[in-house]
Amino acid sequence: MGRFTFTMIKPDAFAKGHTGAILSRIQEAGFRIAALKLTRLSPEKAAAFYAVHRERPFYESLVQFMSSGPVVAAILEKDNAVEDFRKLIGATDPAKAEANTIRKLYAESVERNAIHGSDSDENARIECDFFFSALERF
Ligand code: GDP
Repeated sequence: MGRFTFTMIKPDAFAKGHTGAILSRIQEAGFRIAALKLTRLSPEKAAAFYAVHRERPFYESLVQFMSSGPVVAAILEKDNAVEDFRKLIGATDPAKAEANTIRKLYAESVERNAIHGSDSDENARIECDFFFSALERF
């Protein structure tokens, strides 16, 4: 199991001022922040990030949402990072997420679901490289 995962606080949660509370939960759960930035995805960048979903009916709406405002991107370090972080954020649909998960607490809907977490070690590496250069990692 890899030691790193990639996360993004999505535009809904950033706009509502949940960034500080979400970062606190992440750190209290034992993740170390190895990289962090506030940025905004262009529609082209959002489309590339979610390219695996391009055939899905919600793709255009997802790209529009993810480029609608700033996001907080981060690389997180912990043993078993990918799996443990997916547990911390909860199910994609907040209606199905367990109590006290970040999505249960802060998500609005299955699309506007507050936070992203990589779903495999391979995707974590790809997603970290998408956002961060070597000089931006600590
Ligand atoms: P994740 O790994 O839990 O983020 O879920 P997926 O990889 O399946 O989906 C990527 C993102 O697309 C989700 O986090 C949501 O923002 C969005 N999404 C997923 N399923 C749906 C859906 O059924 N409808 C809409 N509108 N958005 C969705």
